[in-house]
Amino acid sequence: MSNAALARRARKVLAGAHTNLPGAGFAPRFIVRGEGAHLWDADGKEYIDFVLSAGPLIFGHSNPEFIDTVKKQMDTLWSLNSTIYQQSALEVELGERFVQHVPCADKVSFNPTATETVQMVVRLARAYTGRRYFIRFEGHYHGWFDNILGGAVNDRAKGRPFPGMSKRALATGGRDAAAFRQSFLLPWNDIEALENVLNKYGEEVALVIMEPILCNAGCCPPRPGYLEKVRQLCSRYGIVLCFDEVITGFRVALNSAQGMLGVTPDIASFGKAMAGGMPLAACAGKKEIMDLILEGKVVSGGTFGRYPLGMAAGVAAIKLLEKDNGAFYKKIDRTQKRLMDGLREMSRRKGIPLFLQGTRGVFITRFMDRKDPAYTVRDFAAMDAQKERRWAELMAEEGIILMFGGRFYISSAHTDADIDRALECAERVMGRL
Ligand code: PLP
Repeated sequence: MSNAALARRARKVLAGAHTNLPGAGFAPRFIVRGEGAHLWDADGKEYIDFVLSAGPLIFGHSNPEFIDTVKKQMDTLWSLNSTIYQQSALEVELGERFVQHVPCADKVSFNPTATETVQMVVRLARAYTGRRYFIRFEGHYHGWFDNILGGAVNDRAKGRPFPGMSKRALATGGRDAAAFRQSFLLPWNDIEALENVLNKYGEEVALVIMEPILCNAGCCPPRPGYLEKVRQLCSRYGIVLCFDEVITGFRVALNSAQGMLGVTPDIASFGKAMAGGMPLAACAGKKEIMDLILEGKVVSGGTFGRYPLGMAAGVAAIKLLEKDNGAFYKKIDRTQKRLMDGLREMSRRKGIPLFLQGTRGVFITRFMDRKDPAYTVRDFAAMDAQKERRWAELMAEEGIILMFGGRFYISSAHTDADIDRALECAERVMGRL
């Protein structure tokens, strides 16, 4: 069965492709197999995968050690397809590993997806503070639900800075207009903007939520001192601070971005890498906030929330990350440096302005001239969007798949040979841009 034939069948029965794929409609390729850092489509074409399904597959596809460790966890307790509407011993073990590694984690609660987990965070913060609004930031992604998806900063807001609708920023039909009135949307890395809003409305704000490193919009780092200042402001106003670590959690370090950056939020959300590719997410936070669930004051639902296979995958993923004194992280660093250095050198040699920035295990390529770090989405205004699209398309033709926005995810399955091949392809593609 070819890609074209599958596309015809898909058009008849499927409502659409995953929104992580560019544009509406269907992808030009249908994947039939994945192994290591490689994928094969229905036409038999092989790819090196730098999307790795948008973050979760930190050990690559079908990693035998990961699968074996998951199976061992399962063998001792449950059959593979068991869904337990009870608490399992595996859930306790995974909870303990979270508490051991993640600075803000006194207690943990699990969901199958991070979209749900983020809503749990919003609910917990509201229940804990007795307040209504939350603050979020331009370019940050926290799931696809009405109250938190996209929107634009209202730069001229005289009153409460509710988000405005923007075609460019994940606009969707079917959204209840009232949903945008739950949050204020501010520019990130701008401490003055946050201070001004808190001066006026601080006593009405339950939660400040942000990606501590802005992976979803250019892998922007926090400005020096920014997170510390946000931490202070939240403490001063009695606001719950959440770091959404769905991308950074366990990817950048076992103690995640909060450990790496040395700023501890009150609560944090996790997903993706934490279970090595199985659907699992979690929020972890201070005892007094999390215990609202235990006390029955906040409802946490979901049939599949603590399914044993997910718990086993979580335990297995963290075990592999703990192994050999950080060997996983050293391997990722080496692979990533080889690829980023290679691309930098190539663009210099060819005189093509290319800006790269990232954090451990993820980086972006943007066709623009820039020396300093980019700190906000606005810093990418000068990028050549057409070149960016062509770069991704031509790389895919060559057999190298990257994510939209020029994003590359690195897994421990990428070999030196994979990186060499990716660089050879990039060399040809840059000649055609
Ligand atoms: N938060 C962040 C930072 C994310 O990147 C994502 C997904 O990409 C989510 C939350 C939502 O996670 P999920 O797709 O598991 O619902």
